[in-house]
Amino acid sequence: MNARYQVAAPSQVRSDIVVFFLPETEQLRRELQASIQEQFPSAEAALSSNECTGKKGTFVSTYVADRSRSKKVAIVGVGDHSTLTAESFRRAAATAVRRAGNGAASIAFVLPEWSPLGAELTATAIVEGAVLGGYAFTRYKTSDKPNPLADVTIVGASRSRAVSAAIEQAATICEGVYFARDLANMPGNDLYPETLAEHARRAGKAAGFRVQVFDKRKIESLKMGGLLAVNQGSVRPPVFIVMEWKGGGANQRPIVLVGKGVTFDTGGISIKPADRMGEMKMDMHGAATVIGTLYAVAKLRLPINVVGLVPATENMPSGSAYRPGDIITFMNGKTAEIDNTDAEGRLILADALTYAERFKPQAVVDIATLTGACVIALGHVTSGLMGTDRALLDRIKAAADATSEYVCELPLYEDYLEQIKSDVADVKNTGGRPAGAITAALFLKHFIGNYPWAHLDIAGTGMAPKDGPYWTKGATGVGVRLFVEMLRRW
Ligand code: MN
Ligand code: ZN
Repeated sequence: MNARYQVAAPSQVRSDIVVFFLPETEQLRRELQASIQEQFPSAEAALSSNECTGKKGTFVSTYVADRSRSKKVAIVGVGDHSTLTAESFRRAAATAVRRAGNGAASIAFVLPEWSPLGAELTATAIVEGAVLGGYAFTRYKTSDKPNPLADVTIVGASRSRAVSAAIEQAATICEGVYFARDLANMPGNDLYPETLAEHARRAGKAAGFRVQVFDKRKIESLKMGGLLAVNQGSVRPPVFIVMEWKGGGANQRPIVLVGKGVTFDTGGISIKPADRMGEMKMDMHGAATVIGTLYAVAKLRLPINVVGLVPATENMPSGSAYRPGDIITFMNGKTAEIDNTDAEGRLILADALTYAERFKPQAVVDIATLTGACVIALGHVTSGLMGTDRALLDRIKAAADATSEYVCELPLYEDYLEQIKSDVADVKNTGGRPAGAITAALFLKHFIGNYPWAHLDIAGTGMAPKDGPYWTKGATGVGVRLFVEMLRRW
């Protein structure tokens, strides 16, 4: 999708539909309605209708017979002026894209000069909402394909380098989100460890970052016992993907992002119920987020060093699968008793967290569709955040606030460790139902190196059970915008 800035009078913009934002606040609303009517006299009925209130979520559109270049005008409500945030404009822009109707290939938004956020942030939010709201996963449809929105134009009154750049950057970040959504939505028969690696390679080539893929033999030589144990039941070999963007100085220590890449999770021998098991094709969303982030970071040429690590495997039941009761040895020499083979994500992340130490990182953040317990605690709205370093957690929270990719910190009190104590090994891979998101993180903590660490559980936020304000049912691409924002501010 293209996004661009154009300086023009709204009536002179050539687009399938021209969209105006309208706040609910009385005086301002009246002034704006009058000004729109002046530009598009035939929109009068729509503008004076009682649907045109400026209330959040409202949308009125009409064909216009004026001497304008566009044939349709829409007015979308954003709510009270005093409460406006970037999220207000994201959601309103997405509403406009969705309500504009199938067949609208281009949409133009008139940049609201009255926005309290300033032109750059407002334009960014509009592009994000429009592009992300226009996403559809259609690559497997041979008929009834919706018409994709191809062009988003932000219409302003005056030239601005900063606004043009902000729009371009927002569109690039959205490409990263699309990349992640596409990968996570792809089915397990097409997306398995080796094809996931192929997609990472392609992203690296397109955006200009380095990609190395370790095969099973290399993984064996590194003694990644967690990744190998989970992979045992699958006929498809595992991969370990290493991605590197060197935008910073040669001596700058990198930020390492680790993404869980279970390309399909049956639960293994501790098999999941059949109901909705198909959603487990998205159990590599963390990996998709990390690849999408590297793509955006490299395309934006951010002046920082970033490493992405993805351990990838299927979790399948078979005669060769790992079993409950097994004791496995990880790359760092520690051992774990397998209590439940469906708690596999932490096993592959453990080895990746050990491997991360090689980069002498400034910080490591892992992201994973890790626990059902996190979905129970925070639903599909908020990601679980845990970690060892206050400054790092605060950086993530600040980026979460800016992007509205909400996070909530859960505690890692040592008292919870009791639940994952093993009689026969260093640690046990499950701690029962209470505080399951926390005990999963405490398991990971056994494997971190000498670096600040944080963990994001996106089991709920990565997989949307129904369409949201600017995402569709399925993979949301969560984490890409949050990570890019965190790295831009680093
Ligand atoms: Mn599982
Ligand atoms: Zn899993």
